[in-house]
Amino acid sequence: MKNISVITKVLKETMLSYFRPSIKHLILHITNRCNMRCRHCFVDIDKAVQELTLNEIGTISKKFSDLIWLDIGGGEPTLRDDLEEIVSLFDFKELSIPTNGWDTNRIVKMLKKIHLNTDGKLIVTLSLDGMQRTHDEIRCPMSFERTIQTFNRLKEINGMRIKFNTVLCEKNVEEIIDLMHFVRGLRPAFHSILMLRGVSRDPSMRLPSVERMKMLESDIYRIQRSYDYGRRGILLRVQRNYQAYKRELTMKALEVRRQPVLCRAGISHLVIWPEGSVSICELLSSIGNIREKTLEGLLNSAEMKRAISSVRKGDCFCTHDCNMIENILLNPNSYLKLLR
Ligand code: SF4
Ligand code: SF4
Repeated sequence: MKNISVITKVLKETMLSYFRPSIKHLILHITNRCNMRCRHCFVDIDKAVQELTLNEIGTISKKFSDLIWLDIGGGEPTLRDDLEEIVSLFDFKELSIPTNGWDTNRIVKMLKKIHLNTDGKLIVTLSLDGMQRTHDEIRCPMSFERTIQTFNRLKEINGMRIKFNTVLCEKNVEEIIDLMHFVRGLRPAFHSILMLRGVSRDPSMRLPSVERMKMLESDIYRIQRSYDYGRRGILLRVQRNYQAYKRELTMKALEVRRQPVLCRAGISHLVIWPEGSVSICELLSSIGNIREKTLEGLLNSAEMKRAISSVRKGDCFCTHDCNMIENILLNPNSYLKLLR
């Protein structure tokens, strides 16, 4: 029933978005603190910021009463003691919480409570960036072991949907297929392969060449297509086609160096950073701060209009996965691809 309600919501929003678009996908970064120092991280985890309080987030949540997707971001979100309370303030169809998997007991305890209170709407994403040696080199010693331990403990929770995310870079590209086979054997809900993005802490971290990535595409596609996402029938077909189409668009963006579909950043998608600044996507600079202006004020501001118009003109492009969900699902031109 949950899947059906997401689909109904997506279809309704697709129709409405022609006349009355509104934010359906919020990425809420609740902290920039982290207990890791990953070399490819694009978040300024060392900057001291005054995080939005639970009360402030409560006020924000009232402005987003009809979300389809809520993605919690960080830093490491489980470092906030009030994570469960934060999530409970929002209404959404799907909730995504990423974690680095470092502090197993704390993570399991927190996410179990959230899972029980959100009625299976939660998707937990664990980061895994290579086989043991590579992962520990990119992240920190012991992190591979701890992440797998956290996965095994989370898996014991009935109905918990857990997926892995791998950030593809030059350091792990030669073992990515081995890693994907390894992860497949763990039987998570899915394994996403994301492209390195933003400015990394370690400038030597780079995206592999487009040619190298293209050589891997068919193997990545074949392994990803073997997941069933806990879905069946037409929903499974749509889900698999969605993943394949997303990869197709990502590779195309890299090749032609422009966005191959309309990016709905600022139209259907918004990002709020830990200290309240607001961006239309994670890769573009802030258009203002929610502590200084109301949300309506920000959404109707000249900065916002400029940012959206610049995206429409094609001034930026990226391989940013998070925005793709609405760029594809809220775009009727994609439906033939999804139903093929
Ligand atoms: S990538 Fe994630 S886990 Fe690693 S330092 Fe950045 S926020 Fe922390
Ligand atoms: S195309 Fe990429 S960089 Fe540009 S607004 Fe969309 S998500 Fe952001």
